[in-house]
Amino acid sequence: MADYEDYKEEIGDVLYDYGRGLYANITNRCPCRCEFCIRDMTDSLGSADSLWLKREPTVDEVIAMLKEWDLSAYEELVFCGYGEPTERLDDLLAIAGYVRANTDLSVRINTNGLSDLINGKETCPMLEGVIDSVSVSLNQFDAEKYTELCHPKFGPAAYDAMLKFTKDVQRYVPHVAMSVVGVIPVEDIEKCREIAAGLGVPFRVR
Ligand code: SF4
Repeated sequence: MADYEDYKEEIGDVLYDYGRGLYANITNRCPCRCEFCIRDMTDSLGSADSLWLKREPTVDEVIAMLKEWDLSAYEELVFCGYGEPTERLDDLLAIAGYVRANTDLSVRINTNGLSDLINGKETCPMLEGVIDSVSVSLNQFDAEKYTELCHPKFGPAAYDAMLKFTKDVQRYVPHVAMSVVGVIPVEDIEKCREIAAGLGVPFRVR
């Protein structure tokens, strides 16, 4: 059986330690081009040398990597990388299902909230019983400013889709939160805080 370093050499840094969490970087695909995206600023993050993947890992490869990784120091696996994790929603859920069934880790997705548009269907029900928490990037307080900042390929309609996803997913996932990047003006952050409060979810500036 290959060890983690073999996978890393062939595929790249799929698992990485960041802060006190264990992160899974399963795709570099994303429908946005956010002005603040760390992809444009740095390759390395946490224990990863580069989050640019040579290719996407298969579900079996990610599970094999998790078996090689010492999970005892972590409480949570977070899907988050140089890409939008729901670009591989079926694979993400397969990996999350393994984690839930075979480890003590809970599972979080850090997402831009565009899963329904990416996958062309309502995706929130698919998360029930598999995902413990979802953190949605709100990023701005209206569609125009959001589009200027994040450049979603779906255009301004992405903003309402992201808000709808955040509302819907609360029916299926126990912990839902929203966040913004601290680079936007303070007054914009406060308007975003009100939007998150209106949706009934905790809010964080990251
Ligand atoms: S949604 Fe995330 S990965 Fe995609 S461009 Fe924005 S910050 Fe980067």
